[in-house]
Amino acid sequence: MKPATITAPTSDQARGPGVIAIDGPAASGKSTVGFAVAGLFNYLFFDTGAMYRVVTWAALDQGTDPHNDAAVGTLAEELDIAILPVGTARDGRHLTVLVEGQDVTWAIRSPEVDQNVSAVAAVPRVRAALSQHQRQIGAQYAHGFAGMHGIVMVGRDIGTVVLPDAPLKIYLDAPVEERANRRFLEMEKRGKTTSFAQVLADMQERDRIDSQRAIAPLRPAEDAHIISTAGLGVLEIVERIVALAKATCGAD
Ligand code: C5P
Repeated sequence: MKPATITAPTSDQARGPGVIAIDGPAASGKSTVGFAVAGLFNYLFFDTGAMYRVVTWAALDQGTDPHNDAAVGTLAEELDIAILPVGTARDGRHLTVLVEGQDVTWAIRSPEVDQNVSAVAAVPRVRAALSQHQRQIGAQYAHGFAGMHGIVMVGRDIGTVVLPDAPLKIYLDAPVEERANRRFLEMEKRGKTTSFAQVLADMQERDRIDSQRAIAPLRPAEDAHIISTAGLGVLEIVERIVALAKATCGAD
């Protein structure tokens, strides 16, 4: 990706809307695109999926059954989870994820976490604890914080539940086969051995649970801009979002 080829916003007016919510199913491009948009506006990139992954990873790491709702609820309420900017790391990460001070940025991307995270994310106590944390971060960064001008928050329910007042909401989508292929190639690159069929099956199951759960199911907000990413390059999607962001705050 070369976001530098897109004209970066320069004037104060082009500081953007302050909050950009990006939702969509697994591997729809939220992270790559959100990270690039955040860089162009000097916003914090905050991936809420990482928080659900941390709770799942911690349960598996402790030998706790991730289907034990009470146990994962307690983990979500009590774990010290920090989602931080990349800093000096140069290993392709879009954010740094710490739990109790331990860097789990890559550990939370394992196939075992992929297979269990949607069940954990459907637990009401888990959602309540993590959404509250996400709302606080959104409010903190909305008007600029710690040298950043705003926040790009990505997930499944950011535009609908976590930050329903976000001035710009994007929903990214693509066919599941294309998304599974992207995820498979990413995993291959990181040396993970798994088959395409397995990745596809896991993703279909995750889509099913995420979109059918009772609380905060995956769906576009009524006022979201829906972008189908099939066949589009990252730069093209980023350009569209930057244009929408400028339009949202009155810049040309
Ligand atoms: O985006 P990512 O694939 O890393 O998210 C992992 C899982 O976390 C999703 O499949 C979903 O079950 C859950 N999630 C969620 N709400 C969010 C973000 C992620 O339920 N806002």
